[in-house]
Amino acid sequence: MARIGAGAAFASTDTPVRSAASQGVWIDQGLIDAGGSHEPYLFTVRCGGQSLNARKVYEQQQSEEVIRELQQQGVEVFHTHLYKGFGMAAEKPEMEDTVRTAALVHRLGMKIDTYIQWDSMMYETFFAEEQRAQGWIQCDALGQPIMLEYGYQQSFRYLPCFSNQEYLDYLKKVVRYAVVEVKTDFIHFDNFTLSAEPNSCHCAACKTGFRNYLRKKYPAEVRKDRFGFENVDFVNPPLWNATNRPENLKVIADPVFQEWIDYRCQTMTDALVQLADLIRSLNPDVVIEINYGGVVGYNSPWIRGTDPARLLPHTQVFWDESDHKPELLPDGTLITAIRTYKMARTYRNTVLSYISVSETAMAECLAFNQTIGFAGVSPLSGDVLKYIAFYRKHRDLYLGAEDLAPVVVLRSYSSITYNNACAGLSAILFEQALIQAKVPFRLISDDHLADLSPANCKVLILPNTECLSDEQLASIRHYVSAGGGLVATEQAGLYDAWRRLRIEPGLRDILVGQNSATGSRRQQAAPAALAEPRRKQHGLGRAAYIPAIEFDGPPPADQPYFTIGTEFWKRPKNSNELVDAVTWAAGSVLPISITGPEFLGMNLLEQAGKHRRIIHLVNYSLEKNPSVENIEIRCATVEHKPAAAVHFYAPNAENGQPLNFRMQDSQAIFTLPALNAYGVVTISY
Ligand SMILES: [Zn+2]
Repeated sequence: MARIGAGAAFASTDTPVRSAASQGVWIDQGLIDAGGSHEPYLFTVRCGGQSLNARKVYEQQQSEEVIRELQQQGVEVFHTHLYKGFGMAAEKPEMEDTVRTAALVHRLGMKIDTYIQWDSMMYETFFAEEQRAQGWIQCDALGQPIMLEYGYQQSFRYLPCFSNQEYLDYLKKVVRYAVVEVKTDFIHFDNFTLSAEPNSCHCAACKTGFRNYLRKKYPAEVRKDRFGFENVDFVNPPLWNATNRPENLKVIADPVFQEWIDYRCQTMTDALVQLADLIRSLNPDVVIEINYGGVVGYNSPWIRGTDPARLLPHTQVFWDESDHKPELLPDGTLITAIRTYKMARTYRNTVLSYISVSETAMAECLAFNQTIGFAGVSPLSGDVLKYIAFYRKHRDLYLGAEDLAPVVVLRSYSSITYNNACAGLSAILFEQALIQAKVPFRLISDDHLADLSPANCKVLILPNTECLSDEQLASIRHYVSAGGGLVATEQAGLYDAWRRLRIEPGLRDILVGQNSATGSRRQQAAPAALAEPRRKQHGLGRAAYIPAIEFDGPPPADQPYFTIGTEFWKRPKNSNELVDAVTWAAGSVLPISITGPEFLGMNLLEQAGKHRRIIHLVNYSLEKNPSVENIEIRCATVEHKPAAAVHFYAPNAENGQPLNFRMQDSQAIFTLPALNAYGVVTISY
């Protein structure tokens, strides 16, 4: 059997951003980060309502006692405050506290993670320090300052504008202080986001920046093609009113709106790159992290000005603050952070998330993030300590492990950004089918399409991937002709990258049974004529078409901005049809199959140098089913190499316990007697 899946081939050191791959390389040894508070006392006082011992708590949170205790508990990186946005003059005394804390942390042999606010300017103190800053803030179309979205209790927090070079130069002074004075090992940029419309910045720097961006991006004749005219001197960011609400806009077809989204995403990326370049020039060992969120169903480019495909090549770590407890609900909904972890793995990033919400969250994190990430704030819970101890004891199971996934899902920027309610939902639903069927898969972005080959991918999934450029269609055609498998659904390929309707379906020569665009996913669901085969051999490859991904039950009500919240995270009604198509398109047996309950999650990895495959198992129904018994597993080994041994590791079990197995073809077949919350199986060859 051919080796299926070639590890995380898409984000190897061959990615375009070679310099970022060598930034902060210590993170490759894993991350166990905990605090400490990241709030300066000044902020606590300005917010009000604090406890009368708030100063004492502030001091305690960065005391030697707390740091020593965390160190003894296995924490390796200490998280603390540095800069909140009041201006360096107002924050000087507390920034100096961080210098002292960092020295202590380093003396204890730990690393330090320092908080820097990306997105706040507390104008009362900032303007007093820097008069020019009054021109650095984000303003709406009426010229009103835009505030951070924490309700009106924090109206003292204006947002700085990232089109404004003077602000970025100021932020560089903060970063320089962090690297040079604090000697930080890790920079956490908090609130790495813009605001949703109508709260986008309409300042002079943004208007000019937007028009310049359009001129630079498109030559005059292309601008005419794009907008109908060449002269963009009077083009503005979108405007809204009472009857034209941005949160109701479903399909984004307006070319100026599309370009405005692109401009906002690019501005955030360019700002990050400026800061990352500075950090690298000062100290290439410093890890760069942004709190941008994860893949959790909201339309991140549209409502936050953040595109993971552009940002994550420049970071090593990101935060996702969604604190959903991972679990399987009685109606078959599976709440999970798997997508976020998978996107991180594609870009060799590590995720920080609130794993202390439940033991399943810790298990899921070790299984899919392959390290602890954020353990929490002192004092740490008993469960967290158990998982830290397990990870530290068995770290060799995690280091250098590559995801082994023969199936990839394309998360197309244009398709999802311009129609999250349909293309975004289809991606979520197809991923849900794969997760709940325990099919190992990866997420890829547009840039990865050109590198696809049958050697690194058995099946490419296009979940209602409406918008594909001519170049992308050519890449897909080439991949399938060369022997790749394709599963496309619904309106895949019916539009170009600007979401202009194609006269002929873009994949008409590859797909069977796809009609031209009809406009709505619900109209696409044509239940008649299901018997007709929609599978086809194309060149050396195979392509399957599925006309609808059916939501199981009445679809939940639309959310503002068409966010696809957890109520949508449910295995689709025709999940079996989707998974069957994937198996068929693979043209060979998938590398792993597990017979176990639906609440069992799985991740498959390989440590080629250590000659072993590694299976991580997670129980998503721990409270109701504390023990899962007799899980049958078939796992392929590398071609011509029979398994030499199978071992099982778990936080509650005797570790490295050998399991009996037998070989059939190149598959090791064995039964795992019992699993509680989390376990790891190694198959050595
Ligand atoms: Zn602006």
